[in-house]
Amino acid sequence: MAETIRAADILARTARLANEYSFVGLQTIGYSVLGRALFTLSMGRGEKQVYINAAHHGNEWITSLLVLRYLEAYARATQTGDAISGTPASDLFYNTTLFLTPLVDPDGMDIANAQASPDVMAAARQLAQTQPNVPFPEGWKANATGTDLNLNYPAGWDTAREIKAAQGVTGPGPRDYVGSAPLSAPESRAVYDFTRAKDFRLILAYHTQGEVIYWRYGERDPIAAARIGRALAEASGYALEDTPYASAFAGYKDWFIQAFDRPGYTVEAGRGQNPLPLSQLDDMYEKNAPLITTALLSAIEL
Ligand SMILES: [Zn+2]
Repeated sequence: MAETIRAADILARTARLANEYSFVGLQTIGYSVLGRALFTLSMGRGEKQVYINAAHHGNEWITSLLVLRYLEAYARATQTGDAISGTPASDLFYNTTLFLTPLVDPDGMDIANAQASPDVMAAARQLAQTQPNVPFPEGWKANATGTDLNLNYPAGWDTAREIKAAQGVTGPGPRDYVGSAPLSAPESRAVYDFTRAKDFRLILAYHTQGEVIYWRYGERDPIAAARIGRALAEASGYALEDTPYASAFAGYKDWFIQAFDRPGYTVEAGRGQNPLPLSQLDDMYEKNAPLITTALLSAIEL
């Protein structure tokens, strides 16, 4: 395995950011199946709240590094009075508050990278046998008990379950299992509870891959969502598309749009086979720093 980065490294880096910058906040919004803290950073003094989360899918952990790199650059620019992606950081800082959960599925990340404990790896390997066509461990997207966290939200969950059952997935496995009920996984429950406790004007959920932005849930079309989606696409060079039907239900952005009728986007960063190599991170950052800055600017108008 080429990549030996572990969830603990990302969590440590997350905590370090809050230590290094007095104006960066850190909270724990819940715990994973294996008891890891779901760290969430916050930054800004503005009224308009924006939420970004990354790596609902374990083997998409490169997006954790992507969003942390952005927050670090934004914090540095705030401290020095500089711009980020051409926008004065203070414009963002005093008009928005950014919340960031960089790693929603820390346990799944370690499984995908073969960095979990031998017991956890053995249990995951057994679950993975239900889907022999999914490479193990690198194809592991689920949490430690085999629930696909981005199919566990209460927005068309029954439809997602039917679609995945028709594809042959009816129980825990490396991907595509919707869970025993909506929000049955502690990780998605934590993100859900946190979202309900806040007043997010706009959310970005980072995934890999395909360099595409998904913006709608069914026919729902929140005010300004199309316009902002086009701006995000222009900033990044990514395509703006409707979610393919087979993955158009029970995701975080689906639920957010359904529950709040506000703009929510799944951003699929990068290209290739998961986990994407770290060599893609620089290019991914070049495309997504302007996207995130645009999202924050757009939220000011909402
Ligand atoms: Zn994903």
